[in-house]
Formats: sequence, structure tokens, C-alpha cells
Amino acid sequence: MTTLAGKTALVTGASRGIGRAIALALARQGAQVIVHYGSAQKEANAVVKEIVANGGRAQKVSADLSTPNGAHELAKQVRSIIGDRLDILVANAGISKAVPIEELTVEDFDQLFAVNVRAPYFLVQQLLPTMCKGSTVIFTSSLVARAVAGTLSAYAATKGAIDTLVKHFAAALGERGIRVNAVAPGVVDTDMSNFTKTETGRDRAISMQALKRLATPEDIAGAVTFLASDDARWITGDTLRVDGGSKL
Ligand code: NAD
Repeated sequence: MTTLAGKTALVTGASRGIGRAIALALARQGAQVIVHYGSAQKEANAVVKEIVANGGRAQKVSADLSTPNGAHELAKQVRSIIGDRLDILVANAGISKAVPIEELTVEDFDQLFAVNVRAPYFLVQQLLPTMCKGSTVIFTSSLVARAVAGTLSAYAATKGAIDTLVKHFAAALGERGIRVNAVAPGVVDTDMSNFTKTETGRDRAISMQALKRLATPEDIAGAVTFLASDDARWITGDTLRVDGGSKL
């Protein structure tokens, strides 16, 4: 069954990791997917190819979301592809930095907030004219916005900001029938969480979870597909924990 047939979707940071899994999952449900990437053109091509090979529709677009104009440039490209209707906006691209408080630089801090908060904010702003009744925005938050894990204070603050935006955007856009939510993964086995590649890292991650295995990007993509679907039509303004019961 294809629950998202006829819908258009943008997934940022879709060349790898969680974003890639989300793009593939939305396409499997019938959505036309715009695969955004920063610099990994080959990987983005592979995602588009896989979607098309499975009978779906996909295009790739590139924009550096760390620059002040990155979100504006991305929105312009997206509008030139989808025209005047975007149904699903998944703001997934993000960066992290694990360092003690004493070692974080001003540049690190600014970069984290530029990619993780400023870009999603202005992407929503710039794409709002293409969203209407039934459209939905899904951000990627994190477990660390609500619980301490590792030395991630500044990164955690960016995800706290996302949880705040979810509420404010949902309140502001509800009247237009636009839903806004976030998923908050725990530790997921991706390039970002490279500590999971060691046995100690894996054990550490699993020890804080109720479910005793490492999360895959597909575990997160399933929740995003649900939030994007009509089954989630009465859910807005929420951050959904998708973390195998982490730090309960
Ligand atoms: P990842 O590093 O594998 O992927 C991040 C994606 O964001 C990549 O496609 C990358 O190209 C893109 N990106 C980063 N900086 C960019 C920039 N300046 N311009 C354009 N694109 C840029 O990481 P992931 O684990 O797949 O993370 C995806 C999202 O999930 C992030 O927002 C992350 O904070 C969040 N998250 C991840 C975990 C985890 O354990 N992996 C846990 C909680 C939340």
C-alpha cells in the first residue's frame, strides 16, 4: 500500500544516514522525493537511482546549509522542481560536536546553530508559500535535548531549540492546516555516531536503552513516514521519542 502517493517531499541531508533512509522510505510509500545533499553528489545520485529503480520519482538538489543563504538557495531550487505544492518537509541535515565545555570554540558553536537551527528555520520560512492544508514539517531533534549523554552541550542546545520551534511553528501554522513535529532519535548507527563502531561504544549506547540493540536509520525513517502520513493527522506540536526507550 502506498500511503503517500501523489505527495511531494523534501528531505535534507538525504545522501546518507538517517536522511537517506527517510528519503527511501517516503519514496516506497509513493512520494516524489527531493534528495538534498551538501557535497556528497555521488551518494545523492545513488539514492535517486535507487528510488527510480524501484519505480519512484526523485531528484537531487545541493546547498550548503551552513551559509546564511543556504536555506534560501535550497528553497529556490525546490520550488523550481515541485512548483507550488510541497506536502512533506523533512529538515534532517545536521552536524554534531562532542567536546568538553572548555574546548568548544565560538566557531564550532556558530556552525552548530547555523546548520541545526538557522537553516531549518529559514527553510520552513522560504517554503511556506508552497505549503497548505495537509502539508507537514518534520524536524530531527535528539535524545540529548531532554537527557544528558556524552559531551554534547552545544549540540544538545541546538536540538532543544528545535523542540521549541516545533511548538511555536505548530501553533502558528495550525490554522492553515499545516502540522509540525519532530522525531528525537537516541543513538543511531550512522557516520555521525561513529563511536558505535567500537565494541565499548556500542555497549555504552545499548546500556542506556530499554531495547537491547543498536538503532538503524530505518528505525527512525519508519516514525517519520508515520508522522508524514494521514494516520498522524491529529498529531502536531510534538517531539516523538524514537529511541528504543533511552534514558527512561
Ligand atoms: P550523518 O552525519 O550521517 O548525516 C548528516 C547529513 O546532514 C549528511 O547528509 C550531511 O551531508 C548533511 N549536512 C551536514 N552539514 C551540512 C551542510 N552544511 N549543508 C548541507 N548538508 C549538510 O548523520 P545522521 O546520524 O544521519 O543525522 C541526521 C540527523 O539526525 C541530524 O540532524 C542529527 O543531529 C540527528 N540525530 C542523529 C543521531 C545519531 O545517533 N546518529 C541521534 C539523534 C539525532
